[in-house]
Amino acid sequence: MTTNDQLFERARQVIPGGVNSPVRAFRAVGGTPRFIARAQGAYMWDAEGTQYIDYIGSWGPMILGHGHPAVLEAVQKAAVEGFSFGAPTEREVELAEEIIRHVPSIEQVRLVSSGTEAGMSAIRLARGATGRSKIIKFEGCYHGHADALLVKAGSGLATFGHPTSAGVPAEVVQHTLVLEYNNLEQIEEAFTAHGPEIACVMIEPIAGNMNFVRAAVPFVRRIRELCDQHGALFIFDEVMTGFRVAPGSAQSLYAAAIPGFRPDISVFGKVIGGGMPLAAFASSRRIMAHLAPLGGVYQAGTLSGNPVATACGLATLREISRPGFFDALGAKTRALVDGLKGAADAAGVPFCVDSQGGMFGFFLMPELPQNYTTVMTTDQPRFNRFFHGMLERGIYLAPALYEAGFVSAAHTDADIAATVAAAAEVFRTL
Ligand code: PLP
Repeated sequence: MTTNDQLFERARQVIPGGVNSPVRAFRAVGGTPRFIARAQGAYMWDAEGTQYIDYIGSWGPMILGHGHPAVLEAVQKAAVEGFSFGAPTEREVELAEEIIRHVPSIEQVRLVSSGTEAGMSAIRLARGATGRSKIIKFEGCYHGHADALLVKAGSGLATFGHPTSAGVPAEVVQHTLVLEYNNLEQIEEAFTAHGPEIACVMIEPIAGNMNFVRAAVPFVRRIRELCDQHGALFIFDEVMTGFRVAPGSAQSLYAAAIPGFRPDISVFGKVIGGGMPLAAFASSRRIMAHLAPLGGVYQAGTLSGNPVATACGLATLREISRPGFFDALGAKTRALVDGLKGAADAAGVPFCVDSQGGMFGFFLMPELPQNYTTVMTTDQPRFNRFFHGMLERGIYLAPALYEAGFVSAAHTDADIAATVAAAAEVFRTL
């Protein structure tokens, strides 16, 4: 048997840091990443044969659990028909129709291969459609690793951002303004200072890249009003929340709270590909008409709308469209976070939780944070002890305190109970 340690050592020789995406390296929590050999339903097994209950679900896509029979069948059938044609297929049309059917704000969809690509293209579209350059994003929201989005706040509203990655020239982020999430005053000031130059405001409506922080309804309502007043576009990045928190995605929750609410552009990924490389950006016909080949905003992809990926995504969306799917998933996720909260309370550990549909967050603090600065005041060593205590007990949580968790339809009540029982033990050691 090859151990995780041996594989990690081998990987580090040929892959930078041993991983193909940084968070997998366990740098935040320490220790050796688990090399996964296979997965089924709610479980994964590593190279050493150890079984885990999986609460990462490939960072969101696996809403049905691993190896769902209907999805597997669709993928196998599609693979036999052909891997990639570089020409349009009926399945791309079907997937676009299926996405549009659930999300009233969109009339047209462009498929791409990753959330990064989708977010980057959405911004280009917003800039092309408005003829403006400046964009607003929020601290703690991740929209993929496009250069203009790898940015942290400048020293004030007059100064735009600074790159957060080497290799990104300052000039590339000079049009990106980074504001505090849920801070109404800052967004007002930003529009007062730069209104006519702002192409778009991009937000994660439930920010899963700072664990789980909801954009407050008055905040979203005010951004919508300011965008309308100043001719800017409002982009909802639903790569994580799309078809994960509700059938109509997070925007349906805001539409229920704010009459007539809709974003101008939506970005999807993860669940719409069911675990295959597939993402999308979408908007009204009028805005999407700016895209090539119709309009002047260029965007393209060799593997865009890949026939195997679209089969996987379509089969996944069909399963989650079944009546009652989200009620059951939401109840299961709620049972998990309530159980964790009860166990933490019993052990006297300050703890708070939130969840929506199959997405959840928990914080080692007494009250839910509203922005990134507060999230990052978490007692990191304590989180790391919790993470490793759970991992040792076969519970695979996100290896960083600023990541959301995911429950799938394959998780059973027994899985949830086992997770809560493990947490109760670990909390007593914290
Ligand atoms: N947007 C959000 C909200 C995300 O959570 C992510 C990835 O986690 C992305 C964009 C980037 O997607 P990808 O990793 O597919 O490039």
